[in-house]
Amino acid sequence: MKRFLHVIVVSAVVLTAATQAKAQSNWQVGSDFALITPQKSMWMAGYASRNKPSEGVASDLYAKAVILDDGAKHKAAIITLDLISVPRGLRDRVAKRVEEKYGIPANAVMLNCSHTHCGPVVRSPEASITDIDTEKVKQAVEYSQTLEKKLIELVGGAIENSVPSTLTYHRARAAFAMNRRLPTEKGLRNSPYPDGPVDHDVPVLKITNAEGKLTTILFGYACHNTTLGIYEFCGDYAGFAQTEIERAHPGVVAMFVMGCGGDQNPYPRRTLDLAMTHGKTLATAVEAALQTPAVPVEGSLQAKLDHVEVTYAAPPSKEELESRLTSTNKYIKTHTERLLKQLEKEGQLRTSYTTLVQTFQFGDDLTLIALPGETVIDYSLRLKQELSDRHVWVAGYSNDVFAYVPSKRVLNEGGYEGGGALIYFTTVLHPGPFAEDIEERIINSVHQQLEK
Ligand SMILES: [Zn+2]
Repeated sequence: MKRFLHVIVVSAVVLTAATQAKAQSNWQVGSDFALITPQKSMWMAGYASRNKPSEGVASDLYAKAVILDDGAKHKAAIITLDLISVPRGLRDRVAKRVEEKYGIPANAVMLNCSHTHCGPVVRSPEASITDIDTEKVKQAVEYSQTLEKKLIELVGGAIENSVPSTLTYHRARAAFAMNRRLPTEKGLRNSPYPDGPVDHDVPVLKITNAEGKLTTILFGYACHNTTLGIYEFCGDYAGFAQTEIERAHPGVVAMFVMGCGGDQNPYPRRTLDLAMTHGKTLATAVEAALQTPAVPVEGSLQAKLDHVEVTYAAPPSKEELESRLTSTNKYIKTHTERLLKQLEKEGQLRTSYTTLVQTFQFGDDLTLIALPGETVIDYSLRLKQELSDRHVWVAGYSNDVFAYVPSKRVLNEGGYEGGGALIYFTTVLHPGPFAEDIEERIINSVHQQLEK
């Protein structure tokens, strides 16, 4: 009854107060970071052609975490990593432990990697199809185990740092990413393709404390983090962008969230100077985004995660595989040998793979979609178009970087991201390209999660 009376006496002044009250959400947010640069020389991830371990450090690598609590019992943990990939086993164990130790549901834990090609090889002990006893794998497993412990502590640190906060969403653009699937007379070539699809959005989640001080910035970009292929550890453009933002805003934790940059490269590339330049460009775009009108991000927070099965196209026959053994390409040869071994041992090749698709809904204000694998740009463009009635942030490279994840278009065009690169993945033995419906299966999962 009291409430009813209150409504009757509502005035313009009260309305203003009510609007302000809505903007003051009950978010409790904390963030933290941990140094994850290997303390010794290690084999590096990203280019199969690397022939020696790392030699020094060009820039440090970090893991960072932000804990979001909407004040209504919904929590999430977003962890970003200056690393090539998120091994599935690592994600599963960290998520489980975070749930047990801190009460944040495993489904609401997101791991996203920057995909720097100048970080260490990270390998889950249970998921390796190759070289299990070599020094290279041994150190990658050890690194992964130390990392796991660090990530659990990191989440604990972020929880301890939690304070009443305000969230706003912003957006700008940066243009150094270009499509890298250049059509030529001899087929697709990994080269700048100015007419190919891109997504230049730079989404930004700004987090301020009760005093209005900036504490945490999450920002995204859809571009391979591959300016460099050096033998020094380095976060590449994404690392430099984070450093640049943190330098401009002392005390702030800046977190890079990789988008659907599977078929996008930074151009030009190949020098440390260029990696720094792209980092500065991206940091400048983030600063520009912060000057755009703020979109208030209220709760309530809803996190969902689905296990999505993707299937492969018809596998090669034994005869077909045997004929490939004469290939002069050593990667094709090794991959074929492994497939034949699997065929002999298990009687058949893998027919499907089950991966993770995750969504976070911040009320009606923002939808963060976390897709697995090396997701190509079509996913980002399609989801933004199909969900154009809301603010959508599409991340790729999340939770389970098991393969390139082509769209139907990219799959049918073929080339490296369409299926050619699958022979280089060392944690899942892919028999060949995915079936055409891979895109529909992933997109359907997103829509289902958002509808429920
Ligand atoms: Zn890649």
